[in-house]
Amino acid sequence: RPRPLVAGNWKMNGLVLGVNEFDAIATGVAAREVGRAEVLICPPFTLISRFAAAAAGQHIKIGAQDCHPKSSGAHTGDVSAEMVKDAGASYVIVGHSERRVCYGESDALVRSKAEAARRAGLVAIICIGETQAEREAGRTIDVVGTQLAGSLPAGATGANTVIAYEPVWAIGTGLTPTVDDVKVVHDFIRSRLVEALEGEGHELRILYGGSVKPSNAAELMAVDNVDGALVGGASLKATDFLGIAAAY
Ligand code: 13P
Repeated sequence: RPRPLVAGNWKMNGLVLGVNEFDAIATGVAAREVGRAEVLICPPFTLISRFAAAAAGQHIKIGAQDCHPKSSGAHTGDVSAEMVKDAGASYVIVGHSERRVCYGESDALVRSKAEAARRAGLVAIICIGETQAEREAGRTIDVVGTQLAGSLPAGATGANTVIAYEPVWAIGTGLTPTVDDVKVVHDFIRSRLVEALEGEGHELRILYGGSVKPSNAAELMAVDNVDGALVGGASLKATDFLGIAAAY
């Protein structure tokens, strides 16, 4: 199995004056309190360089939560993958459901962002997942398959791409799918990755995201083809996040 990745998505949280949690997380990672997992924090853009400087020479990695497909130009308010890299990050989340919903991001746009990440030398974490209505309509596999096919760049590898399965209805709600439901979707994603990328499809990590907490991390990690977690709310508290990472 690939080395697990436990990633924290801070979303629009974190002010310079309140970043002690990051130091506590970095200290825990440095003290190897987290088992064999690779640990990543994706703060808002404004904190990337600060965290990257603090993380220099340590094991913890830093990522962004989005990037623009182009490397530079007249795109007011946007940040390119090259800029994210330049600020000291090594990962970028693309296609999070909050961006797909709030900004109407399409699979094609998400794919172009993942391609930009690769061009810049970043690892892309491509998010996919069904809504509650889609799940209730029995369309989970269909939706996840379509998003994956549309968002995954050709020639993706385990070194440049991670997939995150985040059921939209599980994000920030405290609800999680059963481990059986998680297994069905992760096995499906793995089979599609192997179809698309052949042997390399086994190398991409498939993270689960949506209400991961210390109390459910171990049972989720025990599921086949769950290679880590993408953690929202619980990544804002060092003790919770380190507890989750330790389960992987
Ligand atoms: P929560 O862990 O807060 O449910 O958020 C999950 C998520 O959206 C991570 O990207």
